[in-house]
Amino acid sequence: MQQPGLFDAPPRLFTCTPSKLGAYEDCPRRYRFTYVDRPSPPKGPPWAHNSLGASVHTALKNWYGLPAERRTPAALPTLLKATWVSEGYQDGEQERAAFRRALGWLESYLAEADPADDPVGVERTVATRTPVLALSGRVDRIDRRGDELVIVDYKTGRFQPTGDDARGSRALALYAYSAQRTFRRACSRVELHHLPSGTVAAHEHTEESLARHLRRSEATAQDVMAAEKRRADGDPIDEAFPPAPGPLCGWCDFRRNCPEGSSAAPAKEPWAALSQG
Ligand code: SF4
Repeated sequence: MQQPGLFDAPPRLFTCTPSKLGAYEDCPRRYRFTYVDRPSPPKGPPWAHNSLGASVHTALKNWYGLPAERRTPAALPTLLKATWVSEGYQDGEQERAAFRRALGWLESYLAEADPADDPVGVERTVATRTPVLALSGRVDRIDRRGDELVIVDYKTGRFQPTGDDARGSRALALYAYSAQRTFRRACSRVELHHLPSGTVAAHEHTEESLARHLRRSEATAQDVMAAEKRRADGDPIDEAFPPAPGPLCGWCDFRRNCPEGSSAAPAKEPWAALSQG
């Protein structure tokens, strides 16, 4: 391989998070609306399930921010209320029911936790580089078990994740890879903690399985950079970043700006994905 010369520009890395890569794979047009167009087109209304998820995540983060002696069930209603996100619910009754459910999830989940445990990281940003990617991402929680780190991702949706979901999650794999480098410590186990069901779906990565996720991520990054180049070379934007209409269009924030997506799937109500469990 030819070595770069002393004064050659270093190859450009693709700066990304796992969700940025996923956006392009799901739909290049959605990627363009989110990451290329400035200003971004206006989004649709906020989603109640996102509000619920954000509220629970923040309460968990703040629970670990308390001194250990104050990490008690009695602290939870105040914590949840303090950063509760109200957007997207059908009405006050639905929102209050969601609050009660969320509080119940937190109480059951944290009843299993040792209040004295301090994770290695809570909503911790990890970052690393490969020959193609400048990767970063924020991990819900990084635990230390023995000599190893464990990636923990909270889930609050309707569907109970499985081990296959943990194995197939690119975000978890990239977090594990980045955490290894950020902390210089082994990290192969990734876990999806589903609060509504109280279950944990886990996977133990190997070097090879992490490498597979990385290779796929790098291939997507190359595709995005090729699309950006086509656009810079004058190709029409809808050819460089074509729409990928399908059932997911019903959930797309940019559906109203996208004729193909609008006819591909009916719009969802903002509260349609709320967990009832
Ligand atoms: S509505 Fe569908 S096709 Fe249009 S941008 Fe969104 S995901 Fe892509």
